[in-house]
Amino acid sequence: MNYISDVSEGYHPFAPDASQPKRQASVLITGGAGFLGSWLCHRYIEKGYRVYCLDNLSTGRMANVADLIPHARFHFIKHDVVRPVSLPGPVSLIYNMACPASPPRYQADPIQTMRTSVSGAINLLELALTHGARILQASTSEVYGDPAISPQQESYHGNVNTIGPRSCYDEGKRAAETLFHDYHLCRGVDIRIARIFNTYGPGMDPDDGRVVSNFITQALRGAPITIYGTGAQTRSFCYRDDLVEGLIALMHCPRGLSAPVNIGNPEEFTIAALAEKVLALTGARSRISYMPLPQDDPCQRCPDISTARAQLNWQPRVSLAEGLKQTLAYFRTTAPLDGRKSQVAI
Ligand code: NAD
Ligand code: UDP
Repeated sequence: MNYISDVSEGYHPFAPDASQPKRQASVLITGGAGFLGSWLCHRYIEKGYRVYCLDNLSTGRMANVADLIPHARFHFIKHDVVRPVSLPGPVSLIYNMACPASPPRYQADPIQTMRTSVSGAINLLELALTHGARILQASTSEVYGDPAISPQQESYHGNVNTIGPRSCYDEGKRAAETLFHDYHLCRGVDIRIARIFNTYGPGMDPDDGRVVSNFITQALRGAPITIYGTGAQTRSFCYRDDLVEGLIALMHCPRGLSAPVNIGNPEEFTIAALAEKVLALTGARSRISYMPLPQDDPCQRCPDISTARAQLNWQPRVSLAEGLKQTLAYFRTTAPLDGRKSQVAI
């Protein structure tokens, strides 16, 4: 088995712990064919790890990992985390990324979404226990619901509806955090919890309904830009590469950081401002089409990342302007736009 060779002096996000023998340089990434999971797969292959990518392909796409398939250290396992998970070899790190993240996708089958978060967490925590692996949960800013304070610190307990259309996702992720915490306390599992804020970038599914992919693909198709509500609601957008480096820093942080950590970009924009940026960047002449605001859509969202800054020495580097440019290039060159030709020259 290959082993990482670029551990330089001092702290390095891939520096192995003394507790992780060389022969165990394997990582399991559930949801590995999805937008974020697939980038994690690429980063760990690049660094010499054996990568088990497990996915049920409900919202993920093999296209995201197609270039890794021939690689000897890459193994794809088609499996649903709702069922118990076993692996053909040892693993020392587990990223639990499996769960649809786009509201229309996680609301399409709310019971499956809740089972993915809850049964999936139990199955992967049991696997971590069996393998003595460290496990990171991809949690979410949605645990704060429609927050009454901003920016959101990890100590804020949130404002979440238990019976709304977003509840299957929000409450499922909250329950998963509780399960992680309790497996840590009661069974000694080495856990990490990343509260991920809105992330965008190359690899997003153009049709999954999230705001960045919607606006860019609408602009490229010359279709109306759909703003839900007035567009005064805010989000803070983190570029994929920044986010994934934050996850890696949290996973490999030598300090035992079992409490949740916000990972996101604290620069906050209104959705109307995002639409303007996309229109300016693409040069599209799309009109704005205002549509009803979905129920329980959070009014504001902005991470306080002082824990990540202090504990992980991490902060995002890519501006929204630069990240949108990269994402636009991806959608222009790579992503299928339903056979419809882009009407905008870049
Ligand atoms: P995504 O939908 O692109 O990826 C999720 C992946 O999980 C897909 O490949 C899907 O097929 C797989 N999956 C779903 N249910 C599964 C199941 N039961 N068993 C096995 N595989 C399953 O979403 P993403 O943006 O890459 O998000 C990845 C993780 O990060 C998710 O857990 C999500 O909740 C979390 N997150 C993402 C964001 C974001 O802005 N992208 C924000 C907060 C949290
Ligand atoms: N949104 C929008 N138009 C779209 C898609 C989303 O105005 O075509 C809004 C949505 O109502 C929300 C924000 O953009 O206020 C972010 O939506 P997204 O689904 O990307 O993520 P969320 O943060 O809601 O999970």
